[in-house]
Amino acid sequence: MKRTLYLKFLLGYVLLGIMGFITVFTLTSSLTLNYIEKRTVTSLYRESNLLAGNYVSNYYRGTMTLTDVKSHFEAIAAYLDTDIWVIDRNGNILINSRPESAADTVIPNFDIASFGTNYYQKGTFFDMFSEDTLSVFSPITINYKVRGYVLIHRSIADLVSYKDGFLNIAYITLAIIFFCAFIVLVLFTFTVYLPIRKMTRAAKDYSQGNFDTQINIHTNDEMGYLAASINYMATELSTLEEDQRKFIANVSHDFRSPLTSIKGYIEAIMDGTIPHEMQDKYLNIILFETERLNKLTQSMLELNKFGIKGSIMDIADFDINHTIKMVVQSFEGICKQKKISFELILTGQTCFVSADMSKIQQVLYNLIDNAIKFSHSDSSITIETTEKNDKVFISVKDAGIGIPKDSIKKIWERFYKTDLSRGKDKRGTGLGLAIVKEIISSHNENINVISTEGVGTEFIFTLPMAQKENEL
Ligand code: ATP
Ligand code: MG
Repeated sequence: MKRTLYLKFLLGYVLLGIMGFITVFTLTSSLTLNYIEKRTVTSLYRESNLLAGNYVSNYYRGTMTLTDVKSHFEAIAAYLDTDIWVIDRNGNILINSRPESAADTVIPNFDIASFGTNYYQKGTFFDMFSEDTLSVFSPITINYKVRGYVLIHRSIADLVSYKDGFLNIAYITLAIIFFCAFIVLVLFTFTVYLPIRKMTRAAKDYSQGNFDTQINIHTNDEMGYLAASINYMATELSTLEEDQRKFIANVSHDFRSPLTSIKGYIEAIMDGTIPHEMQDKYLNIILFETERLNKLTQSMLELNKFGIKGSIMDIADFDINHTIKMVVQSFEGICKQKKISFELILTGQTCFVSADMSKIQQVLYNLIDNAIKFSHSDSSITIETTEKNDKVFISVKDAGIGIPKDSIKKIWERFYKTDLSRGKDKRGTGLGLAIVKEIISSHNENINVISTEGVGTEFIFTLPMAQKENEL
């Protein structure tokens, strides 16, 4: 297909050249000849009028002899490259500017009416010439009576060779234009055609699932930008494919491990491997694993809900400081175990925001849950609220294991867990932050993370400040 496109261009180029030459050869040629003929007729007519009005009238009036007039006409005819005749009304040639010509020749069948309404005609002029000739006449009028005619003949072959001289210029110009167009074609080949061919090949590779092909175009123009975009797209597509594979592997893994342990314990209980008195303990483990599966399913359903059309939001004004305190309270038990303390730096007594309270509670829950999970014991977690430009900034900061630099971008992906957290917290699903991101995005707000591996992590998100804060 791409080859056809180029062939079309080449064909167009060649056709253009051929048509250009044909046009100059036919149309321009005949138009130019017409134009030259018209110009010649006009100037010869002016000349013949002048001759009829001056020299020939002088002859008729007797002030000049026929020989004088003839010698003048010979000079003028030589200068104009024409034949000049003076004939009487019957067609007798009185003067012929050709020096060797005999006078008193009679034009056979001469009839001035053959000119019709024109003052010139083309042809052999009553067979007086062997080739086509342009003949222009002017009547010689003495005392309102026509006494004869001045005729000027010019060979048409002369005019044709004059025209050919012009056409040669046109051919040279056309050849130069054709050559310039060839240079444009070569430039087009290198700057447009070849890059497009490269991109088409790459696109074909991508369509067959081979995303390794890179397009090597680094020009600083649209082609370069396009190639860079396609390269970027290919990289993204390849990671997307990779992500999807990982996603499925993670889901399968996360479902399989609790199911395997549940199956194992139930089989052990049924075949009596687990004695009756120990059954309670293992039933509790089964219950715990079932709850984990339940949470996993619920989280996935929730994310799916966001993915389809965004879940319905229940926006209301509420005190974020109060919400933070409530969520922190719910973690008190675990914190006591891990000897983790909370430091709350909250702006003012109350701080009203406009958002979906239950969803923001979930955000806080997930962030604080992570902060505790990834903190060392005997450390402190700081939660801070600040107001700035109609926004409330909420920060959850821990002094835990931190997130490696190359994982920072990925933590928002579903099922993503850093290698560090895998050892530390095997029970996490990796869905918490994906849900947090969806919730904040559906509020049209932002969440950011600052983290240093081994030092700690801070999550900061914004919420719109409530408009009627003072009235509440
Ligand atoms: P879930 O929240 O679904 O129970 P999870 O906590 O592992 O599982 P996310 O909350 O989505 O999943 O977090 C993704 C990963 O980001 C975590 O597994 C962890 O590697 C990293 N992470 C998140 N918060 C922190 C933190 N405060 N400190 C260090 N690493 C963190
Ligand atoms: Mg989490």
